[in-house]
Amino acid sequence: MKNHDLHITNSLTRKKEVFQPIKPPFVGLYVCGPTVYGDAHLGHARPAVTFDLVFRYLKHLGYKVRYVRNITDVGHLENDADDGEDKVAKKARLEQLEPMEVVQYYTDRYHHDMEKLNILKPSIEPRASGHIIEQIEMARAILKAGYAYEVNGSVYFDVARYNMDYKYGKLSGRVVEEMVAGNRDLEGQDEKRHPADFALWKKASPTHIMRWPSPWGEGFPGWHLECSAMGAKYLGTTFDIHGGGMDLLFPHHECEIAQSNAANGKDAVRYWMHNNMITINGQKMGKSLGNFITLREFFEGSHKSLHQAYDPMTIRFFILQAHYRSTLDFSNEALQAAEKGLQRLLQAMETLERIKASKTSSVDVSLLEKKCYEALNDDFNAPVAIAHLFDSVRTINSVKDKKESLSSDHLESLRNTFKTFVTDIFGLSGEISKQGEESGQIISGLMDLLLELRQEARKQKDWSTSDKIRDALNGLNINVKDGAEGSSWSISGKN
Ligand SMILES: [Zn+2]
Repeated sequence: MKNHDLHITNSLTRKKEVFQPIKPPFVGLYVCGPTVYGDAHLGHARPAVTFDLVFRYLKHLGYKVRYVRNITDVGHLENDADDGEDKVAKKARLEQLEPMEVVQYYTDRYHHDMEKLNILKPSIEPRASGHIIEQIEMARAILKAGYAYEVNGSVYFDVARYNMDYKYGKLSGRVVEEMVAGNRDLEGQDEKRHPADFALWKKASPTHIMRWPSPWGEGFPGWHLECSAMGAKYLGTTFDIHGGGMDLLFPHHECEIAQSNAANGKDAVRYWMHNNMITINGQKMGKSLGNFITLREFFEGSHKSLHQAYDPMTIRFFILQAHYRSTLDFSNEALQAAEKGLQRLLQAMETLERIKASKTSSVDVSLLEKKCYEALNDDFNAPVAIAHLFDSVRTINSVKDKKESLSSDHLESLRNTFKTFVTDIFGLSGEISKQGEESGQIISGLMDLLLELRQEARKQKDWSTSDKIRDALNGLNINVKDGAEGSSWSISGKN
């Protein structure tokens, strides 16, 4: 085990705390995975990259990490509420597929996208539908402890009763008494004693496809229950770290805390970690808001608001360049800057391999490694570590230009530090493809050729050919503007 001084911001205490695992060298890490009813978008990439960094760094420090990331394939209802259609079942109905076909299809695509982003596979990837028995058992334990009630074949968590013995809202800071406000009068809601109560088990309507037998009749588990049940099954009733996006903090994680306390009489999690959201022009990005761009669209450049295709490593680097607790705003400019930055970093690593050592060093690089560790030990502060690496890129380029020199010891230490942090911990793989750049170059070459042909036609007063070219380009949303300096072009709708 490496000596370290790792501090983690715990969302529960809102403080930076020293990381002390329950049973070193083992670390239990649970992260809420995707609900598989559509393609992963940029919002899914952030928790994936964030907790991949946590996983990689803990392993690098020498911990034996069991990383559990679930697949939600049942029970996640629309609007994250207790009523409405199951997200997976709805997709299945619309596509006329079996729900498990939808699940398989999008799980495979999710894995493919994660692989592109160089996200390490979790140690265990349990599915909610594969753990119905465990969820029923947990609901029974909560009922038995007196913190839930059964109505019409559904079981609800009794928040008011729980709040007499524990504190509901300690993670999100919400107060139970205030949760009555904003309650919408929806079907099924009247079964609840209190609007803050949530479903542990829902009775299946006659048309509901995904259903299992239970002590309360046929039904399906509530969304929050799977993570509590599967976390306890694979990591124990108390484990080290639970992560997820800030959008899951309430109600999902608040409900998880309540369920674990109600069933086991104790908190399940020592450190709660939440990554902030990715915004698009300052607005939240999400499937329900319809302003999301899927990862595939990024990789292909096929979404209308993208100026080019982006390499998965650019997306990864873009995410790592912000601290996980800060918001991160998407724009083409920000991604292009990340692309350039990453190229500079990888270029410097290539240069490092080619540099010849001198007898002595004219620069001191011995502090780089220490500074990078300090940054990551400070709540996984990747952007600060990356800034230190960039400082060294300047040194590397000076050595390449023979303005500075490095001894073989220093050279070796630089190589090791770059490999450790860039490749192993940040997971930025060596080669970055220039796919987007290349197709951009081809398009601009073709446009130059077309405009040149059109110019020649105009010179010869061949208006029909010149208009034909212009109209055909207009048909492709490419506007041609004739000016004194010649013709220029732009793609309409792109800004
Ligand atoms: Zn979860």
